[in-house]
Amino acid sequence: TLFADLGLAEPLLQALAAEGYAHPTPIQEQSIPYLLAGKDVLGLAQTGTGKTAAFALPLLHRLDIEKKRAMPKSTRVLVLTPTRELAVQVAQNFRSYGSRYRLRYAQVFGGVGMVPQIKTMAGGVDILVATPGRLLDLMGQNAIRLDSVEALVLDEADRMLDMGFIQPIRRIVAALPKARQTVLFSATMPDSILGLAESVLHCPVRVEV
Ligand code: AMP
Repeated sequence: TLFADLGLAEPLLQALAAEGYAHPTPIQEQSIPYLLAGKDVLGLAQTGTGKTAAFALPLLHRLDIEKKRAMPKSTRVLVLTPTRELAVQVAQNFRSYGSRYRLRYAQVFGGVGMVPQIKTMAGGVDILVATPGRLLDLMGQNAIRLDSVEALVLDEADRMLDMGFIQPIRRIVAALPKARQTVLFSATMPDSILGLAESVLHCPVRVEV
């Protein structure tokens, strides 16, 4: 299988070619067609399997075909990650795969000042990658609104639960529109993850590598 066979838009194929990636990994091959079709996905996959591109590519494709703009303080795609390091890495992946689009990206996480993050969010961004605690803080400052989010990704969900982020995640999800696309990736599937998946995903397709 080639990336071109999965139905991804030409600008994404060009960005992939520039990275030197011609063939999707198994998790990409399984997830991308469903995500392009707008379905929710529950994915069991470890780091190193190519899971980031598995959600980033189809979500970029869907954002661009709609060609709307994010509203002030708003975002269209929200990705939650357990750590600052992963937030930076995921945002970098979106930037490189989306390099042929004119989209605005941001990452927010704790341990640094909030003012630059508030300024970045003021005009709205298309794709926001956030750690749950800082996102809640910014919501509390009225710096971020989540009422026009079109897609939510919970990345490394088991690590987020291990780090005690279940309550922040639930409060964030409660602020999102019910009509949205949701993706949950986790390296393990304990009952706590299945319970979270049950409440945030709508008729998900299960993929596993
Ligand atoms: P991840 O599992 O998302 O952390 O990705 C692991 C590594 O694989 C990252 O360095 C990616 O840039 C790389 N990668 C992702 N997709 C592909 C692909 N289709 N072919 C080769 N490398 C890839």
